[in-house]
Order: sequence, then structure tokens, then C-alpha cells
Amino acid sequence: RPVVAIVGRPNVGKSTLVNRIIGRREAVVQDIPGVTRDRISYDASWNGRDFVVVDTGGWASDAKGMAARIAEQAELAINAADVVVLVVDATVGTLDEDEAVVEVLRRSKKPTVLAANKVDDQKTELEAATMWNLGLGQPWPVSAIHGRGSGDLLDAIVEALPERSAVPEEEAGGPRRVAIVGKPNVGKSSLLNRLVGAQRAVVSDISGTTVDPVDELVEVAGEVFRFVDTAGLRKRVKEASGHEYYASLRTASAIERAEVCVAVIDASEEISEQDLRILSMVEEAGRALVVAFNKWDLTDEERRRYLDREIERDMVQFGWADHVNISALTGRNVVKLRTAINEAIAGWETRVSTGKLNAFLGRLVAAHPHPLRGGKQPRILFGTQAQSGPPTFILFTTGDLDAGYVRYVERRLREDFGFRGTPIHIEVRPRA
Ligand code: GDP
Repeated sequence: RPVVAIVGRPNVGKSTLVNRIIGRREAVVQDIPGVTRDRISYDASWNGRDFVVVDTGGWASDAKGMAARIAEQAELAINAADVVVLVVDATVGTLDEDEAVVEVLRRSKKPTVLAANKVDDQKTELEAATMWNLGLGQPWPVSAIHGRGSGDLLDAIVEALPERSAVPEEEAGGPRRVAIVGKPNVGKSSLLNRLVGAQRAVVSDISGTTVDPVDELVEVAGEVFRFVDTAGLRKRVKEASGHEYYASLRTASAIERAEVCVAVIDASEEISEQDLRILSMVEEAGRALVVAFNKWDLTDEERRRYLDREIERDMVQFGWADHVNISALTGRNVVKLRTAINEAIAGWETRVSTGKLNAFLGRLVAAHPHPLRGGKQPRILFGTQAQSGPPTFILFTTGDLDAGYVRYVERRLREDFGFRGTPIHIEVRPRA
């Protein structure tokens, strides 16, 4: 049975929420600061899924070192849990102790559901929205006492429960996951072979790393990366029919499993629809991207001039991605992929603090306000980066924003904060 741990600092209403979740009213204990209780678990079920709820109770709260102790306690509960529900008090906002627990949660990479409690009325609901800044995704406004919003919260908890087949755990925190993608015959296998041929260490011997048989650990210029789904690259089957379909399925699943994609394009031929489609797939999946123009040895000056024009004409949309001109045949520039991959990952993982972001938005709006829309001017009230990998921003506004204005915000974000090598997602939430 999956375990759901309810964590949070004292007095946010954890026990009340636990009682709400397990559907009973008795034994509601006030969270009294300073009172330590044992962890208690209860059976619960929702929409046909059974799970165990662990109430971490009111943690010891002496004056000094409280944040650290809460984090320590939370760590124990979090390690044992499949899903963690972090309860915060929407009427108080986030405190240092909340942040300490969030830090532990981030490191644990456990699925987390954020419950903004004590939202007893419409007015407090806006307060709950500021909890996006914890970077744990959507805050679920609830009133544990009155039951308001608890159905939606339970839906979110059940949704976060592990599927029967979980993603292999060892993939998190290991070498960076890279997918080599591109249409057939651009030189993907040749590139992989070149990289494998050039490595100095036998990476399969690195202790403590288990590798999915379809992946390969490959050293590039001294750094080890996990190239995902290389089995598909090595298999030299040229299916007579349905080839493209299977190739694009393979591409999609490789992209899904990767953090960063190296999209290989044949520089000696005109950039094709299929090349661009694959770049779009990477962008839509929200992965970091490096474009490798291969077969550079086959290009002459004239071809390179044409290529520049094709890039300008067809690839403006991917202007944020860096290019490396390589030859898998001669080995030209292949080691440069290491830096390019790392820079793209750095952009992909960039976090902008809420303070910096809102200072930036203030300057942006002052210099370039949104044009009038049906006599009204939509305003950006507040922005927050909800996620990195890829950077995902939420703008709370007084009304819908024009697509052109959102693109302008993206352009300015890139000018101010970098984000080389990564798509950016911007979500606009007009106030209801
Ligand atoms: P894949 O289908 O993308 O894996 O492409 P392959 O690696 O099988 O390469 C397709 C063809 O292009 C093969 O004949 C390779 O020898 C050739 N090729 C790959 N890279 C280069 C390169 O950098 N320069 C040249 N001249 N040929 C290359």
C-alpha cells in the first residue's frame, strides 16, 4: 500500500486535514506548538485507491533550531513516503520553517502535493495562489475544518500515487541523460560510435551505476553522460514499411527519457520539414536542446552560405538553441558537445527568485505596457517561476494577454536571465 505523509510546521492544521482525509471527525487534536506526538498512520481510500496516511503530528518546537529540527523530522517521514502532502497555512503565508521543509522535499524528488489550508472563503483563495512561489506546483486551497476543496486535494493525492510500474529510481541523480535524435541517415549512429570510440575510460565499470540495457554510459571529453535509448541507434534495421512511424515513436520516447537532446541535422543537405518537426518535438516536450550540424566535411563555402540562410528562414523559433558544426566521420568538434550539453542543461535548470522576477516584471511593464484590449489594459499582478527543467513561469494577471506580448515577455526574460539552450514555458492565469 502506498504511503502518504502529511508534513508541515505546527499549527497549520495537519491533524484536522488527516481526519478530513480518512473521513472521520473524532480525535481532532489541536496542533499545539511545543507538543510532540508520535507519528500515527491510518488507512484511507479515495476513488478506489487504498493508501496509508501518516500524520507527522506537531513537531517539537523549541525556540532555537526549530527550522532545522522540523526539516530533520520531515526528512524521516518523507523518506518513508510515496507521496508527500505539504500543508501550509494560507492565512499566514510561507515562513522559514516551510522553506526548510521545501528544501528537503526538493532533494527527495518525491511527488508532492501542496495543500494551502485554512482557505475558508473566497478571499483567502488569492492568498493560496501566492504559494506557487514554493516551487512545488499548484497549491490546492482547502479548508480542513469545513471540507472546502478537500475532494480536489484528494484527487491530486491519488493522482500522485505511484503507478504499478515505477520509473527506475537510479536514473535520478546519476549522469545526465542525453538523447541523440534526428531523421534517418543524418549520422546519429556514426556520432555515437565516434563518441564511444574516443572515450578514455571503460565507463561500464564505474561503480554504483546500473544502466538500462537500452542506454549507454559514454565519456565525452572526460565527462560521463547517459545516452538513452542507444539500442535503437545501434540496431541497423531498415524497416521496409512503417519505418518513419517507428522512427518517430523511438524519437518521442528517447526525448521523453532525456534531459537534453542533441538533434543531429545533415549540414550537406537542405534543412527539411522532418528536421524541424523533430526540433519541435524537443521544444514541446520541454527538453534542453543542442543542434549538431553533422557531415561538415561535406560542406563547401557555398553550401555553408545557403545553410546560414536556411537557418535564418526556418529556425528562428529555435534561436535559443546553440549550434555545433561537427563531423562524425573525421571527429571534428565532437568534443565540443560536452560544453554545449552542459550549457543547455544549465539554462534548463535556471531558477529566478520571485523577488528578482517581479522586479524584472515591474521594469518590463513600466517600459512596455500591454496594449489596450477592448478598452481595458490587462495588468500583470505577480509572477512566479513554478518549475525549472524547463523554466516554467506563471503570470497572474487581470485579464488574458496577447500572444505577441507573451512572446515579448519571453524575449526579455532571455535577455535578462540567459536561458540558452532551453525552451521556456509561460502560463497566464487571469484573475477570475
Ligand atoms: P543515422 O541513420 O542517423 O544513424 O545515420 P548513420 O550514422 O547510419 O549515417 C548515415 C550515413 O552517413 C552513413 O553512410 C555514414 O557513414 C555517413 N556519415 C555519418 N556522419 C558523417 C559525417 O560526418 N561525414 C560524412 N561524410 N558522412 C557521414
